[in-house]
Amino acid sequence: MTLVLDKEKAVISRRRMKEMPVLQMEEAVALCPKCKAFQTIFLVGDRLVETRKFSQRDGQVYHDCGAEEPCRLYRTLKH
Ligand SMILES: [Zn+2]
Repeated sequence: MTLVLDKEKAVISRRRMKEMPVLQMEEAVALCPKCKAFQTIFLVGDRLVETRKFSQRDGQVYHDCGAEEPCRLYRTLKH
């Protein structure tokens, strides 16, 4: 039954893919609690890919409008 064997192989190779330590860029939406702006940002692991408007301090993402509260992040799950 080669068909069954092929299926098993496919499962194994899919598992291997998952275990690979690839840092994927994740998309998230940051919502600023002060000015209510929201914008798509990118994260690699838990690190923000900094932009002109957003920066990261102590693991939190801050907007550049002077907000003292960190932005809320809504991760868009794609898996
Ligand atoms: Zn803001």
